[in-house]
Amino acid sequence: MARYTGAVCRLCRREGKKLFLKGDRCYTGKCALSRRAYAPGQHGQGRKKLSEYGMQLRAKQMTRRYYGVLEGQFRHYYELAEKKPGKTGEELLSILESRLDNVVYRLGFASSRAEARQLVVHGHFTVNGKRVDIPSFLVKPGDVVAISEKAKKNAKFKSLLENGNSKTIVKWLELNRELCEAKVLDKAKREDIDLEVEETLIVELYSK
Ligand code: SF4
Repeated sequence: MARYTGAVCRLCRREGKKLFLKGDRCYTGKCALSRRAYAPGQHGQGRKKLSEYGMQLRAKQMTRRYYGVLEGQFRHYYELAEKKPGKTGEELLSILESRLDNVVYRLGFASSRAEARQLVVHGHFTVNGKRVDIPSFLVKPGDVVAISEKAKKNAKFKSLLENGNSKTIVKWLELNRELCEAKVLDKAKREDIDLEVEETLIVELYSK
């Protein structure tokens, strides 16, 4: 279960977009991108217009970083998406959305996907009654994601379930606060995904 362990704000600065990798800090004036809105490194302020390949690469890297996925696994998701009947780019985003760590984040139980990943690894969630501690586990319509019995006693979860949080839960998930569980109603469609990326660029890159 490899993951990126470097400085995450660099990634946003490289992409020139907020990827919301640091939770609450991303919404404050401390956001590194608000203070230094240029790419990191010695030549960060002097970059020229991107080539076609450059744009495709940036689209792929941004999407990969947004979901916290390394190259090998991202490629694997792309291959899965290619086999599906819909548009490959949209299917790819839908697969990424169905990762368990993303679902936990979308339900508002974590302020970032990195935090959600940690909660999953610590065994705080079950899928269809079985404990799942694999962040890359892919949920499907009809699955029920629940907070484990032990985690229900955790003050953070109690407060979140009682008071909710400011995030709007995506429409393909239905949270039942009393039962401490959420049902996956549908697969995520493109219009449900707030990532500003041209996914067709990723398809063009991998089709070469
Ligand atoms: Fe990105 Fe958040 Fe860092 Fe801002 S604070 S650069 S949005 S990770």
